[in-house]
Amino acid sequence: MSMDASRHCRYRTGVKGRKDGKLAVLAYRDELTGLPGEGLLADRLAQSLALATREGKAVAVLELGLDDFERIDRTLGHRAADRLLQETSRRLGACLRRADTVARRGGQGFIIVMPQVAMRQDIAIVARKILDAIAMPIDVQGREIHASGSIGIALSTEHGETAEDLLDKAAQALTQARQAGRNRYAFHVEAADPGGVDRLQLEGALRRALERRELVLHYQPRVDLRSGRVVAAEALLRWQRDDRLVAPGDFIALAEETGLIVAIGEWALAEACRQQREWLDGGLGIVTVGVNVSQQQLRQHEATRSLPEVCQRHLAAAGLDSRWLELELTESMVMESPAQTIALLQTLHAAGTKLAIDDFGTGYSSLAYLTQLPVEYLKIDRSFVNEVCCDPNSAAVARAIIGLAHSLQLTVIAEGVETEAQMHFLRKLGCDEMQGFLFSRPLPAAQFAALLAEGRRVAFGDRAVAETLLLVDDEIAILNSLKRLLHREGYRILTTTDPMEGLQMLASNEVQVIISDQRMPRMSGTEFLSRVKSIHPQTIRMVLSGYADLQSVTDAVNHGAIWRFLTKPWDGDDLRKQIREGFREHVLRHGDRELTP
Ligand code: C2E
Ligand code: MG
Ligand code: MG
Repeated sequence: MSMDASRHCRYRTGVKGRKDGKLAVLAYRDELTGLPGEGLLADRLAQSLALATREGKAVAVLELGLDDFERIDRTLGHRAADRLLQETSRRLGACLRRADTVARRGGQGFIIVMPQVAMRQDIAIVARKILDAIAMPIDVQGREIHASGSIGIALSTEHGETAEDLLDKAAQALTQARQAGRNRYAFHVEAADPGGVDRLQLEGALRRALERRELVLHYQPRVDLRSGRVVAAEALLRWQRDDRLVAPGDFIALAEETGLIVAIGEWALAEACRQQREWLDGGLGIVTVGVNVSQQQLRQHEATRSLPEVCQRHLAAAGLDSRWLELELTESMVMESPAQTIALLQTLHAAGTKLAIDDFGTGYSSLAYLTQLPVEYLKIDRSFVNEVCCDPNSAAVARAIIGLAHSLQLTVIAEGVETEAQMHFLRKLGCDEMQGFLFSRPLPAAQFAALLAEGRRVAFGDRAVAETLLLVDDEIAILNSLKRLLHREGYRILTTTDPMEGLQMLASNEVQVIISDQRMPRMSGTEFLSRVKSIHPQTIRMVLSGYADLQSVTDAVNHGAIWRFLTKPWDGDDLRKQIREGFREHVLRHGDRELTP
């Protein structure tokens, strides 16, 4: 038996050879959690189905999978994994009604049977409640672990009448939920028939779209994070189909499969050049436009249709210098056949066209090749930017990409910037440019031109002013009395009752000293300060707690998350002194450069 298979079996509900009469019970109960096993589940599901059919109601089958189970089992060990399963089963019990059944299935799965449900909405509410319950931290041997789950849902009235059907469909829906991201639920959806009528119709319509001039480009501004000015735009394809504007996500894949992407991609290059000429002639001035290219465009080798040739032809037709055109390609396009791609990119580069690696961080790049690529820009993928203020891993990835890019003399662009906090934080990390809904969505050409003509820009404001203190406590009364206590100290004081909001504030503001309560409902003080430590390591962090909960305090101190531990109720003079020392410590460690504007 291979390692994996034995590991899997460890978490199977099974009948062990016992002589003490427990055999029958075990076949029906899971030893670890005491929940029904697959045997009992099959019985209950069959009964519920029979009853529901008689009464014209639906039975819902939900399969819950723990997203990180394998990783937790591997890194923290079996005891931690067992504890996670036990705690999950306890929390599940607390979310459900008596009539519902929860059972174990497979290594880390749980099945929930809800008999007699009337509406999908009721199931959705329960599914969300379960996911929220599972996402609460779990204490395992004194350390907090954060798990999350995904849920797939099948209904007897829509997805199948037999127990096997429903279990199968719920498992497929679980896969769909996981593909959409973690911590989600999904109802089963029949996969579209890839060779079906819809697809043929779409293909035909897409072929005609080019002839009928139904394709358009929208332009999304790129903003320089030092000057706040628009320095470039990305051209993004849209399909004006009847009165709907279809996004590329809905047709690019089909265009690639059918080979239509070569013609569509060439059209986009030609249109971007033509549009720039029009703006120039209209006296608008010019910005560089980035156009996305597809793998197949790189693979066109005939002299007249190769990408460098196509670019030159359309630049020449519009009378444009090649430096006004940028091409965006992804890591995987380069890595598919690196040697040929590098040669091609060198030809483009030699002709003056700038190149960007799009969605950087999501594919796999060989760093050795990266140093050989004649690219100018790395675009940090939206998925990291999205979480950059609150997830230490995303912040670490963004910081690493920026460091890597700068040491290779490349410019870094953050994609998908939606909030001020993200913008300020990325700017602090040294990111060069941003693009995202915060400044502007992709716009039709005329609106983009208006935005440029207006000279719209971002004012960053001067945030690095006074000594700034952040106070986090779920009790507003405590925040108020701390503010009164510190009133005369001259600090700029930020307060919040919610640690997640605290993370947003830290992203947008220069903060030197942080004081956090320990027991807060959404996140403990030590968890909050550990995240702060990873994302903003230069801060001085203190806990102010009414409970000297030894385990979490020692953990936090040992992980370097906190500098001092202070207790409630406090002595006013002492607390003021500690805070002053905190600011002094910050200057000692980092100099006072951050305090001077
Ligand atoms: P991409 O090149 O990574 O483009 C960025 C996508 O992020 C765009 O989606 C844009 O609308 C979206 N976006 C920008 N800012 C934000 C934000 O703040 N929040 C969120 N949630 N989204 C934001 P869009 O226009 O749907 O394009 C999707 C993808 O389709 C593009 O991803 C690109 O890979 C592809 N694509 C677009 N135009 C072309 C084209 O002309 N040729 C080819 N081959 N692919 C294209
Ligand atoms: Mg792009
Ligand atoms: Mg992108």
